[in-house]
Amino acid sequence: MKERLLFLGPPGAGKGTQAQRLAQSQDLLHLSTGDLLRAEVQSGTPLGQEAEAVMARGELVSDGLVIAIVRSRLEHHQGGWLLDGFPRNLAQAETLDTLLTELNQAIERVVLMELDDGILIQRLLARGRADDNEGVIRHRLEVYRTQTAPLIEHYKDRGLLIAVDAAGSVEQIGANILDCLAK
Ligand code: AMP
Repeated sequence: MKERLLFLGPPGAGKGTQAQRLAQSQDLLHLSTGDLLRAEVQSGTPLGQEAEAVMARGELVSDGLVIAIVRSRLEHHQGGWLLDGFPRNLAQAETLDTLLTELNQAIERVVLMELDDGILIQRLLARGRADDNEGVIRHRLEVYRTQTAPLIEHYKDRGLLIAVDAAGSVEQIGANILDCLAK
């Protein structure tokens, strides 16, 4: 089983759910930059105050801010990890590569969760998070297409990408992911 993983895919594809399940079953550190940022917002830290309005608009928080969060969590961690929602653009991917070289680690697999826009929008509307109203959802999908989707080619070129159909039950999708990672 691979131990250093990225989860990639549009908002609403179920990355968080699957990442959490897999991290638990395989004893990996689950690092969700979205969850970590929401915790900062809730606690009202300076970082959270800086991020709150940007998140509410469905835009990306500054690279420096999220990279600092990831670095602080990874640099003292022993063992496997699963990054969920990071990197979100090429600059973050390149900084991550540099950080991992420094830490003498490497990404072993990138799991791409794929799903139609229609289903994504339905799922996000049903979830009802603060940034889950229709206008913001459409904007987040657009941000994904323009800024995050180029990472698919980036990781495909390096032979790291596996694509998983994100339609179906939580259990089914989880089993597909495990199958792909065992290869
Ligand atoms: P998520 O929970 O992954 O959907 O993230 C929710 C929001 O947090 C995003 O819409 C962004 O505003 C922000 N965010 C999460 N991860 C990142 C990241 N890697 N880079 C920039 N912004 C992020």
